[in-house]
Order: sequence, then C-alpha cells, then structure tokens
Amino acid sequence: MELESILLPGVEAKRPIIIAGPCSAETEEQVMTTAKQLADRGMKIFRAGIWKPRTKPGGFEGVGVEGLAWLKEVKKETGMYVSTEVATAKHVEEALKADIDILWVGARTTANPFAVQEIADALKGVDIPVLIKNPVNPDLELWIGALERIHNSGLKRLGVIHRGFSSYDKKIYRNLPQWHIPIELRRRIPNLPIFCDPSHIGGRRELIAPLCQQAMDLNFDGLIVESHCNPDAAWSDASQQVTPDILDYIINLLVIRTETQTTENLSQLRKQIDECDNNLIEELSKRMRIAREIGTYKKEHNMTILQTDRYTEILEKRGSQGALCGMDAEFIKTVFEAIHEESVRQQMEIINK
Ligand code: PEP
Ligand code: MN
Repeated sequence: MELESILLPGVEAKRPIIIAGPCSAETEEQVMTTAKQLADRGMKIFRAGIWKPRTKPGGFEGVGVEGLAWLKEVKKETGMYVSTEVATAKHVEEALKADIDILWVGARTTANPFAVQEIADALKGVDIPVLIKNPVNPDLELWIGALERIHNSGLKRLGVIHRGFSSYDKKIYRNLPQWHIPIELRRRIPNLPIFCDPSHIGGRRELIAPLCQQAMDLNFDGLIVESHCNPDAAWSDASQQVTPDILDYIINLLVIRTETQTTENLSQLRKQIDECDNNLIEELSKRMRIAREIGTYKKEHNMTILQTDRYTEILEKRGSQGALCGMDAEFIKTVFEAIHEESVRQQMEIINK
C-alpha cells in the first residue's frame, strides 16, 4: 500500500504522537477550556466527537455542525490541529467545509463496508489524513478492507487506531485489546502508523496509563486519548476521560524504548507470549465456569460427575485437533487430562455442597 506521512507541519515525528481531547464536543466553553489546557501542555492535535454513534437512542448524539465552528475557534485560538469522526458523506462534506485537519472513521462505521465506501466516495480527490479505527469485531481483514477502500479513493495519508474489540464478557476492559491483531496489521502493512486508544480499550481512567505504556512497548506510533476539562461531568464516556493535567502527567511518565536493540525485539515477543498466556487463563476460567454450571445440572438431575464416553470423546477430538494445528497429539491429551481433572474437582465441590 503506497502511503505518505500523516504528520502535519509542526508535529514532531517523535513517539508518541498525541491526539487528545474530549469524547464529545459539548459546549463552546467546554471545548475551548479543554483545548487551551491541552495546548498549554504542548499538545498539538485536538480531538472531539461532533457526531456520536450511540449504542441506544436517547443518549447524547453529538452537537452536530454547530460544534464545527468551535473546532475552528480552537485552531484560531490555540494553533492546534483539529480532528473529528465522520460516519457519512454528509459528515465528510461538513468537516471539510469547516477545515478539519484530520478525520477518523469510528469502530462501528469500519465494521460496515457500505458506510466506509460512502465515506471513501465522498473523499475522492481530497488530500487529508484519515485514521481508521478497528472494527468493533476482531476482524483484521475488515479493518484492512476499510483502509483499502479509502486508499482506492486516492488518499495516501492514512493511519489506524487500535481501540479494542467488543466482547460479551466484560471484565477488565471495555473492549478487549487483542494486541496480536494490530501486531499482525503492522506485519502486513509495516509503514502504516498505528495509534492506540487507551480510553476506549480500558473504559476506565486507571487503565489509561498502563495501556499507553503497553502500546509504546509494542512500538505503536501514537496515542489518542480522551481528555476533558471536567471528566466527571462529561456528556459521554465520563469514566474513561482524564483532565489535560493528568494526561500530561501520564505522558511524561511513559518509558519510550527504541526498537533497535535485539533484546527489545525479544521483549516484544515476550509481551506477545504474556498476552497469549493471559488469554489462555481467561479462557480456562470461562471453561471452569461452564463446568461448574454443568456440575449444578448434574446435581439437580442426580447424574454422576464422570461421564466416561464424553471424557474419551474430548481427549480423542482435542488430540487430533491439536495435531492438525501442528502440536503433538499426546501433548494435547496431557493438557486436557489436567483440565478435565480440575473440572471434575470443581464439580465435586458443587455436588458435595
Ligand atoms: C470515540 O472516539 O469517541 C468513539 C466513538 O470511538 P469508537 O468508534 O472507537 O467507539
Ligand atoms: Mn468516546
């Protein structure tokens, strides 16, 4: 994919490139106060949602075109570049008319090829940096497809934003990072700038700093962070926004390592291993939860815990599945024997309660 730099004049090519600003533009005062505080702390690119895609109707759906004038004011007053989300051809048209510097495509939009194509068509012949958020579902091809659609319209200043992936199980994160997906994207399109959005991944303020550090350790290029002059009073995503002051503090604490040392590559691989192990443990705990539910069922129906046929079937099936994936069948059997043993132990606890 032929790409050109997304860096605008005056923005240093130094990791991390920071984009910061509130989830939504709410009032002129909130926009201006936040922008000034960010600019005072050296931030060069402002973000604010003007049109907000909401899960359910009735939430705050953005101030609309009125807010574009406030972003213009931000440019004039602070010298910051401004960015916003576009989801339709009309949004593109309005944003371009208002001299927005950078556009981004939201996660819900990236998941819909019709919507992305509409945006791509509206951008034909326009030279503006566009950042594409990952689709809500963990589908790398869909993400790349969206990039290709915009690229096919002649846009070369492209980047992506990793904002995590929706999952039914919400435990630590609002959206699971699944770091292997942006890592694979980097392998497929090496010169494509990747931003991390710790606000939407974490969904909670406390997770912003560790997620920023993780993104830097994985050699991401930038961070897009939700920052609001009064986060608790935000009209959308209040729990995941921080004040410009806190954001500045978080950024200053980041350890930025360079990629060139070989141990660095090793530590990147180890991070990936850690990520895999975390996923394994989460999956195992999910499996145990289901096993305990089965335990309750067996208890209520007076069934024995050990159902030999089922056990044999699992060991055989998993063994050959493992072999198909390039692992020793006996190894997989050993792993599943151990898993089964723990399932039985947990079911015994339930039955004997
Ligand atoms: C946002 O950036 O405020 C937003 C709506 O994000 P996403 O598209 O990642 O949900
Ligand atoms: Mn948001």
